[in-house]
Amino acid sequence: MHIFDTLSGRAESVSKAKRIKMFVCGPTVYDEAHIGHARTYVFFDAAIRYLRSRGWKLFYLQNITDIDDKIIKRAAELGIAPKSLAGKFAKSYLADMKALGVTSVDKYAYATKFIPQIVCQVKALAARGYAYRASDGYYFDIAKFKDYGKLSRRSAEQAESSVSRIDEGIDKKNKGDFCLWKLRQTRTSADLDADQRGKAEEPFWRTELGTGRPGWHIEDTAITEKFFGPQYDIHGGGVDLKFPHHEAEIAQQEAASGKEPFVKIWMHTGLLFVDGQKMSKSLNNFTTIKDFLAEHDARVFRMMVLLHHYRSNMNYTDALLEQSFASLQGIEEFVDKMDFVARKSVRTAGSEGVGKLPQETEEKFNAALEKDFNTPEALAAIFHAVSLGNNVAWQMTPGDAKRLGNMAKKLLNALGLEVRSTRLPFSVRRMIIAKDRFRIDKQFIQSDALRKKLESLGYKVEDTPLGSFVRKK
Ligand SMILES: [Zn+2]
Repeated sequence: MHIFDTLSGRAESVSKAKRIKMFVCGPTVYDEAHIGHARTYVFFDAAIRYLRSRGWKLFYLQNITDIDDKIIKRAAELGIAPKSLAGKFAKSYLADMKALGVTSVDKYAYATKFIPQIVCQVKALAARGYAYRASDGYYFDIAKFKDYGKLSRRSAEQAESSVSRIDEGIDKKNKGDFCLWKLRQTRTSADLDADQRGKAEEPFWRTELGTGRPGWHIEDTAITEKFFGPQYDIHGGGVDLKFPHHEAEIAQQEAASGKEPFVKIWMHTGLLFVDGQKMSKSLNNFTTIKDFLAEHDARVFRMMVLLHHYRSNMNYTDALLEQSFASLQGIEEFVDKMDFVARKSVRTAGSEGVGKLPQETEEKFNAALEKDFNTPEALAAIFHAVSLGNNVAWQMTPGDAKRLGNMAKKLLNALGLEVRSTRLPFSVRRMIIAKDRFRIDKQFIQSDALRKKLESLGYKVEDTPLGSFVRKK
């Protein structure tokens, strides 16, 4: 298995000899998660399910950031307590993941449950000279960590000019220093009023560092150190988290432990655009996971994700949606067709090459995924087998048809895509038998009447050399 590592810039070889420790950055729960988030989590779910289907042992850990500036800001806007806002959206996120069929995460770790570990890590950084106390909190001194910027390939100066989720602070040593622990500010009378109403109060913890709350980046390394120790195998997340978040994680953990590398492989998923534009509330192209699932099948979303290489950006359009839907439908129809042929065919010798197709396809599928999870190429192997199989469907032996249908189901299932076969009700099956009998007896008017009836009931009817092939429309 080869996986591309963002830090080294090349594909690294990974073996399944030992249990893999894997962490993917979870959401900051201040709002509904959108389809950009879903792209990342659905991809990692498919990748991990695939590895497990091949006998890999993995522990998949994800954090949930339930304390953060964004949560506090949004809660204040809404006039509710940050804790209840975070609780609400954490629950909502887990419901979304369930609806998307994301089942591979072994543990969701809530940041607020790891305050002692966070404090311990900040103390270790301070003891080693990497963290210092300023007037409003503890900061990481990026000038002390010579490798700062190695993941995102930025110099310290470039790092300092970035404005994305950089902590403000009046007496920081370097502009790019990020906050590890925010001290609770002196309360104004307005704050006290709000506190008394039990509403906009900022959560805080009384610790050896002083009363306050953790910064964003330290939450993740405190959690992973607790579960995995200072070094582990794979860290994943959206490419937009590379800087400053992942850069900060490297600095914190390597500085705190003196061990490097922090992780063996950094995996980053590409961005999701909507009609070529960045998703934003102001452009009115913001689609939450719930919005998507209200109109479409979760499996269509997964197909859409898998039709792209995870490192590529993905452009969400109506055409892509249609293509994904049609791809899924095409495979489902094929699986039904193979089931039909397996029941109806009486051939003992099949078409040349068809017997080897399931194994050849599986080999191509695995080879594609072993090359840095090339899901579009893996799917192409299945689509190729489907198209070949469709061409010779009526000349297949029952055994060949069965093996081909099962192959398609098994390989898609390994990526978390469940292929559902049409189950025809008894009354429909009886109508089909009657229709086929009329046709054999050349009673075409009666046969046609039954076809129309089936169609009016919502079925698609195809006359084939093996009889009527019927599916739900
Ligand atoms: Zn993170």
